[in-house]
Amino acid sequence: MANVLVTGGAGYIGSHACKALRAAGYTPVTFDNLISGWQDAVKFGPFEQGDLTDRARLDEVFEQYEPIAVMHFAALSQVGESMTNPGKYWHNNVTGSLCLIEAAVAAGCQKFVFSSTCATYGEQDNVTLDENCPQAPINAYGASKRAIEDILANFEASHGLKHVIFRYFNVAGADPEGEVGEFHQPETHLIPLMLDAIDGKRDALTVFGTDYDTPDGTCIRDYVHVCDLVDAHVLGLKWLEEGKESRVFNLGTGSGFSVREVISHSKAVTNREVPFNEGPRRAGDCTKLVSGSVRAEKELGWKPTRSTLEAMITDAWRWHQTGHYTK
Ligand code: UDP
Repeated sequence: MANVLVTGGAGYIGSHACKALRAAGYTPVTFDNLISGWQDAVKFGPFEQGDLTDRARLDEVFEQYEPIAVMHFAALSQVGESMTNPGKYWHNNVTGSLCLIEAAVAAGCQKFVFSSTCATYGEQDNVTLDENCPQAPINAYGASKRAIEDILANFEASHGLKHVIFRYFNVAGADPEGEVGEFHQPETHLIPLMLDAIDGKRDALTVFGTDYDTPDGTCIRDYVHVCDLVDAHVLGLKWLEEGKESRVFNLGTGSGFSVREVISHSKAVTNREVPFNEGPRRAGDCTKLVSGSVRAEKELGWKPTRSTLEAMITDAWRWHQTGHYTK
């Protein structure tokens, strides 16, 4: 079975990607520094501990496994933190990715699948967020991801590095079989925080901002199930294996839900009250991020099957009640 190097394979999305790669006949080789990932989440292939900024360690791993491609998930991804500590984001995300890209090219590994984000689009008024939309990130997280997109384009021009860039909208849910799921420490994302508040594991959820220019005043996001998301990555890998051009794809459903709507769906799914209070806006948050593209469906043949809010919250709730990792 061909090896695929999965950076961040011990994290939320990376661990689901490893499961999907394994099911598709690849061997996922996880490369992770375990700062936010969990070794318990590495279940579908070998594990190599290391940091993306450690070029010698990367060279060793490329030499040992000779991966046919890289799937690069490892990143810091908290919008709020990126606004208070942007240097951490530029160093970890951009310097780390540059080091990885240089190591891949040096090892002759010329296929690269990259996790980017809708946060690269930024705040746009009445614009359809498709892949041709201008990128104008308003937070350091989005800016760091856009920079990596630029690096990939430069390395394609100089070294022929073929890449697929996925701009994710909001990823949610968990493996329906319960093998892997979302487990961040600290947790900052809406759905897991809400589930914690529902079963009393933490205080009430704070809704960040109720004065946005949206029908109910709260931010609108496009939620996509993690299993659908990683299926697109396997299709992206096949796209590159077929020798196709480098390409950018949005991964979202095209349906937007406000924070208040997510709360009411969670109440319906769990049949429990969601304790919440209303707080100020969080710096760096865009009013509305909803995909306006079906390029992934049309060109990759992507068919999301679990990305309803009900299915995402149901799977997240099941995982929340049964799953956790320990270091
Ligand atoms: N959000 C919130 N309270 C929280 C966490 C998130 O109101 O405790 C809101 C946040 O402002 C955003 C949406 O929920 O509008 C999704 O935030 P999340 O951090 O899950 O993902 P992001 O959109 O930042 O990638």
